[in-house]
Amino acid sequence: MSPYKHKTITEYNHVFELDAESRSAADKFEAEHEARHADIGPTAIGGRYTFEFTPTSVGVFAGLHCATCGERIHLTEHVSW
Ligand SMILES: [Zn+2]
Repeated sequence: MSPYKHKTITEYNHVFELDAESRSAADKFEAEHEARHADIGPTAIGGRYTFEFTPTSVGVFAGLHCATCGERIHLTEHVSW
């Protein structure tokens, strides 16, 4: 495979991981939004947050989206280029 060929989504076998730093940032984001949306209360089955993973040639970038207010953060900003 050419070193310049990006992996297709299936080459990742749909297994995406968060390192400890990203997991910590996600936990902080969710805690902030649980407090911000306390008036709404918990949902019956969850689903308020969506993780987004974007495979690139320099790594997989992860994001987290709150469906209640639409805010989105990047979890992998610490990745060094
Ligand atoms: Zn929110």
